Amino acid sequence: MKKENNSQHADDALEQWKEKEALKKRLGKIKHKLLVLSGKGGVGKSTVATNIAFALSEKGFKVGLMDIDIHGPNIPKMLGIEWGQVGGSEGNLQPVYYSPNLKVMSIGFFLRKEADAVIWRGPLKMALIKQFLRDVDWGELDYLIVDSPPGTGDEPLSVCQLIEDADGALVITTPQDVALTDIRKAITFCRQVNMPVLGIVENMSGFICPHCGKRTDLFKCGGGKRIAEEMGEPFLGSIPIDPSVVESCDEGIPALVKKPKNEVAKAFKQIVKIIIQKTKEKAPPNLPPERKRSKE
Ligand code: ADP
Repeated sequence: MKKENNSQHADDALEQWKEKEALKKRLGKIKHKLLVLSGKGGVGKSTVATNIAFALSEKGFKVGLMDIDIHGPNIPKMLGIEWGQVGGSEGNLQPVYYSPNLKVMSIGFFLRKEADAVIWRGPLKMALIKQFLRDVDWGELDYLIVDSPPGTGDEPLSVCQLIEDADGALVITTPQDVALTDIRKAITFCRQVNMPVLGIVENMSGFICPHCGKRTDLFKCGGGKRIAEEMGEPFLGSIPIDPSVVESCDEGIPALVKKPKNEVAKAFKQIVKIIIQKTKEKAPPNLPPERKRSKE
């Protein structure tokens, strides 16, 4: 009996080792890994993840966007590729191309009807996240942006544990006090799991009237910056509320394409500039020669 137990332990350990190696091999081809987190849902986490990934890809970087927000996998819809077909085979899934520089993988591609809901228990969710990270053939990437489920539960925890060498987390918040309480928790969570906070982004920060251009602070403003200062983390910038963002998400067009010159686009571009700078500073010394970046 004891012998059987021992051999089971050995098999499990071997399996775990193989999984870890497979994950390491996949992630080893990706220079920078960023997690997009939020203390709660509905703050624009997926919108920010999508537009940042798009902006980086437009600058000539090779980008992967992975949507593991199991309960709200909206990224395919936001990019207008919800009917994209995941190719490849089990263990080697081929992501869907939005453009030559932007590949996407989402649980949404596997839920064909909009009303399909995912009701999974914790361990299944964890297995799925692990499978997504290990089995998707991203190839060589400059950036992998991972849109994590909201909150500080088991799912973001497993993402943080699985991506050991992530550059850091972008923590998205809105300015109201209730959201700010949650962002404190999200930052504390990052610290507990040794995930550097790359920066805080305040979304839905002030409304700019599309008619007169006047700004109104619907949900207050400046709370994200205040928390960043209070907690000693970088603040990356604020993105205003703009009805065109809702339209762009619903139409499947990145906000940066729909209105490339408005305040939202300017804010995204500025945030992306800071991200490039910050990740450059962290670049490991043994990178392969830089690819030519067409539009940088
Ligand atoms: P989360 O991923 O945090 O749940 P989403 O990115 O799905 O949030 O955004 C929730 C809703 O808010 C979407 O309808 C989106 O279009 C809208 N939204 C996000 N950011 C903005 C913004 N800056 N201005 C206006 N609407 C926004």
